Formats: sequence, C-alpha cells, structure tokens
Amino acid sequence: MSLIARKVFVASVIGFVLLVANLVALAGWLERSGVIAKAQRIREEYLTGTAITVIVAMFVLVASPAIMLAVRRCQVCDAALFRRGKYCPRCGSRVDSSFTAQ
Ligand SMILES: [Zn+2]
Repeated sequence: MSLIARKVFVASVIGFVLLVANLVALAGWLERSGVIAKAQRIREEYLTGTAITVIVAMFVLVASPAIMLAVRRCQVCDAALFRRGKYCPRCGSRVDSSFTAQ
C-alpha cells in the first residue's frame, strides 16, 4: 500500500466517522430539502421489483463475459493482469499487448 493510498484511506475513515456522527442532522437536512421525497417517488415509479430483476439479469448476462474477455493473462505464470502495463507484476516477464485470455 503506497503512501498516497494510506493518506486517502485515513482521510476516508475520518470522513466516514464524521458523516456517521452527523447522520441525524444530515437526514433532517435531506428531509427539509425534499431530496428524500423525490427519491421515494423515483423508487416507486421506476425501481419496481421487476425492474431490479431485469437490471440484475442484464448485469449477469451481459457484463460478466465482457469483463472476463477484457482480463489479460500472463503468458508465463498465468496471472490475471488487471492493469495496463508491459510487465507482469507477479513474475516480471514482458507481456504481449495483443495477447488476451482464451
Ligand atoms: Zn507473469
């Protein structure tokens, strides 16, 4: 974990604790500004059980094979390569950019 990642993590934890500590005030502000009423209306109109089922089915049917095909693999150690780069992070061998998972 790099130093920047640690700083972001600590800032996120501090922000999360402050958010949770002021949750009641935040909820009251959202209620007064009408955001909660709008969200409830959108949920009742557009996010029915059928719509959520269709969205989840689309994620499973459409997104999963596309993600599987997009992941490259190292030719030497068969590690999944999630980042773009010329070298494998596990074994350090050079990765051919035209090679994709079978
Ligand atoms: Zn490798």
